[in-house]
Amino acid sequence: MDLPVDEWKSYILQKWSLLPKSIQVTISTAETLHDLFLHSSPLLQPEDEMFLKRLSGGYLVGKDPDTSLFYREKGNQKFQAKDYMGAAVLYSKGVSHSGPSSTDISLCYANRSAALFHLGQYETCLKDIVRAQTHGYPERLQPKLLLRKAECLVTLGRPQEASQTIIDLESSFAAKPTLSASQFQILQRTLCRVKVKVQEKENLPEIFPEALTKTFEGVDLREENEQIPGASSSVSLHIDPLKGRYLVATKDILPGELLVKEDAFVSVLNPGEVPLRPRGLESKWDIQVTNGDLHCHRCLRHTLAPVPCDGCSYAKYCSQECMQQAWDRYHSVECSLGALLLTLGLFCHVALRSTLLARFEDVGKVTKKLCGEMSNQGICLPESKNPVQTLKYDLGGEGDKKDKAVETPIPGCDINGKYERNYNAIFHLLPHTENHSPEHKFLCALSVSALCRQLEAAGLQAFTTDLKPTKLKAAEPPVLCAELSVWGVAMLRHMLQLQCNAQAITTIQQTGSKESLITDTRRVRLATALFPVVSLLNHSCSPNTSVSFIGTIATIRASQLIRSGQEILHCYGPHESRMGVAERRQKLRSQYFFDCDCPPCEREKQRPSAGPGRGAFRCHRCRALLQGDDVLSCSGPDCMESVSRDLLVSRLQDLQRQVGAAQKHLRNGRLEVAIQLLLGCQSDVESFLSAEHSVVGEIEDALAQAYAALGDWEKSATHLQKSLQVVEVHHGPSSVEMGHELFKLAQVFFNGCAVPKALKTIQKAEKVLLVHYGPWNDEIRELQKMKSCLLDLLPIPVGPKE
Ligand SMILES: [Zn+2]
Ligand SMILES: [Zn+2]
Ligand SMILES: [Zn+2]
Ligand SMILES: [Zn+2]
Repeated sequence: MDLPVDEWKSYILQKWSLLPKSIQVTISTAETLHDLFLHSSPLLQPEDEMFLKRLSGGYLVGKDPDTSLFYREKGNQKFQAKDYMGAAVLYSKGVSHSGPSSTDISLCYANRSAALFHLGQYETCLKDIVRAQTHGYPERLQPKLLLRKAECLVTLGRPQEASQTIIDLESSFAAKPTLSASQFQILQRTLCRVKVKVQEKENLPEIFPEALTKTFEGVDLREENEQIPGASSSVSLHIDPLKGRYLVATKDILPGELLVKEDAFVSVLNPGEVPLRPRGLESKWDIQVTNGDLHCHRCLRHTLAPVPCDGCSYAKYCSQECMQQAWDRYHSVECSLGALLLTLGLFCHVALRSTLLARFEDVGKVTKKLCGEMSNQGICLPESKNPVQTLKYDLGGEGDKKDKAVETPIPGCDINGKYERNYNAIFHLLPHTENHSPEHKFLCALSVSALCRQLEAAGLQAFTTDLKPTKLKAAEPPVLCAELSVWGVAMLRHMLQLQCNAQAITTIQQTGSKESLITDTRRVRLATALFPVVSLLNHSCSPNTSVSFIGTIATIRASQLIRSGQEILHCYGPHESRMGVAERRQKLRSQYFFDCDCPPCEREKQRPSAGPGRGAFRCHRCRALLQGDDVLSCSGPDCMESVSRDLLVSRLQDLQRQVGAAQKHLRNGRLEVAIQLLLGCQSDVESFLSAEHSVVGEIEDALAQAYAALGDWEKSATHLQKSLQVVEVHHGPSSVEMGHELFKLAQVFFNGCAVPKALKTIQKAEKVLLVHYGPWNDEIRELQKMKSCLLDLLPIPVGPKE
């Protein structure tokens, strides 16, 4: 999803392998990105572009008004079945595919407003009613819509407006009696009901709806760093030839302290698995729901009522404002390129959007910078090995390098040493040009070239006319080719940077059936983004911070006590609790080009058997640890048992498959089947795995869910406590994983009315989650609600021993 689709990748790799040796050498040894781009770009032939065009032709990204009726009918089926959530999503798909100001789109909006009404989303329902009306909702159907509007207004505690709506409604009845007698009667009855409600409400004080949107702006750094806006004053920026740039604590930092709060410079929503246009006739249009259907393409906010771009079916927004902002800043260029961008992958998309956003900064400076890259070789020399070379870039001239290098700000900072969230900072993220394989660089260069050609074809005017006027280009007409190659080089740089600097924006998605009373959560990747400040942090397999996201904003909190002078570290992915040392080091080397020497890595290198997964197999006779490589033998004192590793591994895989099947039954509400299967797995585990194996945790967790769904809270709690033990062994007592598990346990105790236990667990869960998320987290709010509810119930104060 980050890189181009496999077909294009293998096509380009084959093209590379067929190139004459001399050209391969020229490209492989190109010293600057500009040279790389200059030598690769002309190799993109018309037939290559045709091939790419065929590939992207598989994605349906334009409007297809024929599908509107299809989605509306599918939505109606869900609506009939009272699956209002499912109905809303399908109506949204209908909305995206209908042209603006068509009857189709107005009908889809109107139907969606009905679904939202049933979901209790009254504010959004009202918005959809207005949308239906502005897009030309048929006159004869208006009464139904107006009634819904009145009901919404009543529920929202706005009786005056509701009365006005009813007056409008009655006068439209009188003017055009378009309804059949029976329809009229039904409407009359509803109208009476609403009128009564209005009267009731009019006598009550106004009730304001609970604010649904998170006031995240309320979360702030205690004291902002003067040098690095977005970071706390408890850290400072340093540079070192080996480590590059990094952050250090300037004072003791307590667990939970907010260290960074930063809005992404650029982010692109991960559309999820976008299905290709089906070739067969049956199941003509897909009804699968992906990230792209549920999140705003600009701010990533979750929404059941997106408004689509007028020009395409794939870009959808939480509001008109977001749509306008996106259009002005980048979507006017991207709109027609949807299919190509899906084919070329997210990195290419982020690269394009970054350069588009750069237009809104001082273009003169940016262009100079980009041109600087063309003339100044320093920028592309191996930066990590020789940071002085990169510093040279900022100097412009060669001159008295040494004297100036001292004063030169750290790369990415301005002359005053300020590191800001701007294109300058993005530009200085390391592309590690010398570390990427020639094939990879060729793939990136040709993908960017293809994108440039499309931009050119779509009229570069659109691309450049939005530029703020500058002295630089006021006079002469834009020189298309030269200009494009500047943008091309910049995009290539971003594509290469992204491998090491892209930050996945993740969100906790709640899974499980609607009825399940305890929440099952899953971390999913929502977007790919660049955060200049977050990028300053180095990696550790055992980090001292925790990252979380709300929309496009990242927050980093200390997850433990950080002493003054210690480095602030976060984990790039390979965490010690999830991977053994060998796998971690291999991953970090291949993706980030460095050898990790964090304390766990150093420790495990000496004692490799300590990693997770090792020591996991147990003797079925005496339960002692099995040791060895290909053949494991029992470590028990009087036991001669030995087993081949292959056999154990295949048993483990079998077991994991069964657990997966049980979880599926669970999701589909087949609780008894799931429980039987899980109990079988449980006894299987005992014969060959240690009690701390992660699969044991999964089994216990699934059992807890099943019993919760059956309302057997006591059993559910017992299993959850076992799962908690496993999580603690793997992730530590104050890990975010522990926090989620404690949250579930709190829910179970709460539902089972085990008041003292619930209160105690709530307290524990709150403590752990606060460190990772701060007070604005959904789970923490839920915990607080439970607590106040329980305290109301509590007959006697809880003794300290409980
Ligand atoms: Zn939005
Ligand atoms: Zn569009
Ligand atoms: Zn490490
Ligand atoms: Zn044994």
